[in-house]
Amino acid sequence: MSSLDLVVIGGGSGGLACAQRAVEYGARVALLEPNPLGGTCVNVGCVPKKVMFNAASLAHGLEDAREYGFDVAVGGHDWAALKRGRDAYVARLNGIYEANLARKGIEWIRDHGRFVDAHSVAAGARVLNAPHVVVATGGRPVVPAIPGAGLGITSDGFFALTERPARVAVVGSGYIAVELAGMFAALGSAVTVAVRHDRVLRHFDTMLSDALMTEMRADGIAIVDQAVPAALRRAGEHLKLDLADGRCIGPFDALVWAIGREPNTEGLALEQAGLHCDAAGNVVTDAWQDTSVEGVHAIGDVTGRAALTPVAIAAGRRLSDRLFGGQADRRLDYENIATVIFSHPPIGTVGLTEQQARERHGDAVKVYTSGFVPMYHALTTRKRRAAMKLVCTGPEQRVVGLHVIGAGADEMTQGFAVALKMGATKRDFDDTVAIHPTSAEEFVTMR
Ligand SMILES: Cc1cc2nc3c(=O)[nH]c(=O)nc-3n(C[C@H](O)[C@H](O)[C@H](O)COP(=O)(O)OP(=O)(O)OC[C@H]3O[C@@H](n4cnc5c(N)ncnc54)[C@H](O)[C@@H]3O)c2cc1C
Repeated sequence: MSSLDLVVIGGGSGGLACAQRAVEYGARVALLEPNPLGGTCVNVGCVPKKVMFNAASLAHGLEDAREYGFDVAVGGHDWAALKRGRDAYVARLNGIYEANLARKGIEWIRDHGRFVDAHSVAAGARVLNAPHVVVATGGRPVVPAIPGAGLGITSDGFFALTERPARVAVVGSGYIAVELAGMFAALGSAVTVAVRHDRVLRHFDTMLSDALMTEMRADGIAIVDQAVPAALRRAGEHLKLDLADGRCIGPFDALVWAIGREPNTEGLALEQAGLHCDAAGNVVTDAWQDTSVEGVHAIGDVTGRAALTPVAIAAGRRLSDRLFGGQADRRLDYENIATVIFSHPPIGTVGLTEQQARERHGDAVKVYTSGFVPMYHALTTRKRRAAMKLVCTGPEQRVVGLHVIGAGADEMTQGFAVALKMGATKRDFDDTVAIHPTSAEEFVTMR
């Protein structure tokens, strides 16, 4: 008989959460992770990204400070020092995760996992057996299959940069692309964003993408649209990107591919467990995080659903609640997951876009919008607008979508997400007394 109840493959957001919750119920757990603990989020994702966002926000604040009466002279920015501080913080977090595993009695095996069969996982010379195996191996950035692509870097390479490139191209239109572009620009790089179609954030409400493109341009970011990369090449000391339609953009000192992420399933020998992936390579799971193979489960980015840290954590914890905590009905509801884009200015969004709501509910949709310059900018020459939208449906005007771009959007969206999750109506919003003076109050005073 196996001495383990659970083997978790991957020590990122989802795997750690799942393993730790399982031991709280008395399960015996081993976790496989060859890299520092914390996965993408801690090492090359949310955490170092937020540090860079904070630095970029400070740069904007310094720009505005004089108009608030400060006698400031900024003598430049030390990217290498920022990186050192950031790396030290990440290393501290790695250590905290390691200490937590030790304290909770979870065995950390610093190796890759590979299925031998559905309930046996090889890790180096060992084979671990358990009735439950959780695949939590996350994802990695996609690099296009074009000549010279290796001359560019990905978001992983962004975090490895020891100095700021003076001229940088960011290829991609998703949230990582716009976030990196905003950080580079605020810290002083000349930034070009190359998008495949006509806009950034194509899958978000168009109000958000329109507003963000306006603000990015105001920050000096060039947006090249209809840009399909054909080849990346060295031109002297620099890089130039050839596009499929014959245009060439550059020169750049660095180019970042931010064109998407793919699941980490290579080397896992999923076929040994009888597991199948969808066309994009994601491990297919049902509403319970179960795969088609009894006792094999998957959580987080590797499943291709809502690739966000809190989603991976929530899916992992709920899975352990169900498997080891006697909570048979416990599972993650993927509806109305709020998310923030740490662009400049930031974006918060939860629920349906206006377009999705109209497709689902037709004429029953009523939309409220607001656009304004936040009071912070009353004194500043640099003006950045805010825009908000409430998407409501039905006679009771239930709020099914809430979208905001503007200073403070990152911190204001979480509370509104609770309201949406509870089924709040426009009337509930109207009946809530405003907090003044804030940007958030616009959401409860819309007409
Ligand atoms: C630049 C960037 C910014 C982001 N910003 C945010 C944000 O602001 N907010 C947010 O919510 N999300 C953000 N994300 C997404 C977030 O990081 C992921 O959704 C989250 O990390 C997914 O957790 P996971 O457990 O599924 O996978 P991961 O955290 O990727 O962990 C997977 C782990 O599995 C390990 N592994 C892989 N293969 C094997 C194997 N065969 N054996 C053993 N171990 C293996 C890997 O080394 C890795 O440590 C960001 C991502 C990126 C790239």
